[in-house]
This record gives sequence, C-alpha cells and structure tokens, in this order.
Amino acid sequence: MNDATSSPKPPGKRWSLPGAGLLKGMAVTGRNLVGSFFTKERMTTVQYPEQRAPISPNFRNFPFLVHDGDDPDAGLRCVACSICEKECPPQCIYIVLERDAEGKSLKRPKIFDIDVSVCMNCGICAEVCPFDAIYMDGEYELSTGDRFEGLLFHKERLAKSADYHMRLRPKEATQVMERRKAEEEKKAAAAAAKAAKAKAVKDADANPTASANPKPEGGEA
Ligand code: SF4
Ligand code: SF4
Repeated sequence: MNDATSSPKPPGKRWSLPGAGLLKGMAVTGRNLVGSFFTKERMTTVQYPEQRAPISPNFRNFPFLVHDGDDPDAGLRCVACSICEKECPPQCIYIVLERDAEGKSLKRPKIFDIDVSVCMNCGICAEVCPFDAIYMDGEYELSTGDRFEGLLFHKERLAKSADYHMRLRPKEATQVMERRKAEEEKKAAAAAAKAAKAKAVKDADANPTASANPKPEGGEA
C-alpha cells in the first residue's frame, strides 16, 4: 500500500460508530421526557407566553439608562459625556447635551437615542461608561410592527431605575452601589476638610493677633 494515498488516523481523534451521537442525544431526550413526570428540573420547555423561563444572568439584549430615585429625568446618572456614543461600533447611539440659556452644560442629555435595529448587543457602551449610567438589559419581548420609530428608543424609553438594575443583575448592581457609596463618602469627607480649612483661614483673617500670639494653655487671663 502506498503510504501517501492511505488516510492516517489524525492524532487524538476518537472514532465512534456512525449514529452513536444521534442515539446519545435520543437517550438524553428520553431521560428528560420520563424524568419530567417526576422532577420539575427535567422540564426543558415552558408554556410560553403564560410561563417564562428565567433568563441566564449572562443574557444581554439592548442597553438601558439607570436613574437613581423616583424621577427618571432628574435622577439619570448619565452626564452626556458621549464616550459611549464615540465607542459604539455601529454608531447607533445619538446624544445631545442639555445646556442652559447661556450655553453652559447642564451635564445631562437633552436627547439620548439608541437605534436598536442597528445595535449589535456588544455591551461596549456599558463597559466604557465611567458614570455607571448604562447597562445591558435582559428584556426580550420587543417585537413591533413599526420597524423605524418603534425600534428607535428615546431617553424616556431607555430610563430604568437602580432597583430594576438590582433585580436584573444583583451581583453587578451591588458592586456598583457599594463603589458609588464609597466614592460619595470620600467626596463628602474631602468637602468637609476643605470647608474646615477655609473656616480656619477666615478665622485667622478676622483675628490676626490671636492667631499670631496664641494664648498659652493654663496662662493668666
Ligand atoms: S451594545 Fe454595542 S452596539 Fe449596542 S449601543 Fe451599546 S455599544 Fe452600541
Ligand atoms: S451613558 Fe455614560 S458614557 Fe454614555 S454619555 Fe452617559 S455618562 Fe457618558
């Protein structure tokens, strides 16, 4: 036999009987079918839409904007920095910064739209946001007959509460809340230290003699 024309067995490849994989799959199906009469865990289907299977913690669909408190507009964490807009690969985020009458930034979005017909669910927007303002949602019942306006999600449609985030992804939301709390405490401590320093300077300016010649402790009046 010519060695060059024979087909040598590839290293590490395991040979099995034709149809063995099919039989193995049928065995799993049979086990689940019989087992489903005895244990709920063997049920691999649910009676949708009356019942819904729980979504996996890793499932992600389209992004949503997080707001603190009860007012979705006032409590939005988004400061309209536009980082997510720049980083979004298919460029399906559109943001306009809100400004006051003098043109000064109000650090919130006037317009925040996501075209979910273009979004590819990559999650990059959620990864790059430095303000914990945007996360990936698990909502999947989004079919609509209007493929234009119906798939363009505006700020009002995108805004969801921090409680919703906590119910959806408890582990991630807890880490975020703890980090934000620590940052707020750090900021409050820095502000208090700055205020105390400013007060000390003001007191010294108001009474320069007292600060230049402090009265010795236990000295005579
Ligand atoms: S998930 Fe990806 S594609 Fe969708 S809006 Fe975010 S960055 Fe853009
Ligand atoms: S969601 Fe985050 S990254 Fe995007 S504009 Fe708002 S603050 Fe910036």
